[in-house]
Amino acid sequence: MSLPPAIAIDGPAASGKSTVAKLIARELGYTFINTGAMYRAVTWCLLQRGIDPSNHAAVAEVLPELPLSFGKEGSVSTVLHEGRVLRDELTAPETNANVSAVAGIPAVRALLVAKQREYNTREAVVMEGRDIGTVVFPNTPYKYFVTASEEVRAARRAAEGITDSIAERDRKDSSRACAPLRQAEDALLVDTSDMSIEQVVAFIVRDIRHKLSDNS
Ligand code: C5P
Repeated sequence: MSLPPAIAIDGPAASGKSTVAKLIARELGYTFINTGAMYRAVTWCLLQRGIDPSNHAAVAEVLPELPLSFGKEGSVSTVLHEGRVLRDELTAPETNANVSAVAGIPAVRALLVAKQREYNTREAVVMEGRDIGTVVFPNTPYKYFVTASEEVRAARRAAEGITDSIAERDRKDSSRACAPLRQAEDALLVDTSDMSIEQVVAFIVRDIRHKLSDNS
């Protein structure tokens, strides 16, 4: 039995990919899955328990017993801790500072990639992250790598008042051994430097619809 469509949106931080992915999901009536939130939730939960993210053995040991679950609110993914939806915890400064280290741990990635694929067994998804086209859904024909020039990304960060050191996260995410941030060979590169959000969404949705009709 073939799975519902999976749209993979990857790219660096502040490339606009979250906003774009959410709007594409709305336009197509698919579920929006924010995989960064999943890595952030694991990070927050480990820090709550006083576990040092650089101690991979300790992380791997507690991982199966973390009280996290993965759900949906309407057509948007959520992460729950002991049944409560996590929100501000996901962007707390200590979460921001440690998430790249936690995301580099193979046991964490194996767990979360399995959860990410599970969503797509039930429904069509637009999934946003760093390794969606390369690792999570390597066979999907719908892959987009959304980026913008360094200057534009810096300006977007400043406009949002973000103090998180995004450049440092990108460096770590791109250079790690396990599932580094990179463009899949068959992904369409979308440079959003000179495009509005509406233009990016329209461009990608047009491409998806074109491919969907070719594959039907
Ligand atoms: O997308 P967001 O900036 O919230 O992601 C936070 C961090 O989670 C990234 O910097 C990266 O370290 C990690 N991540 C990842 N793989 C994904 C999504 C996020 O490694 N698919």
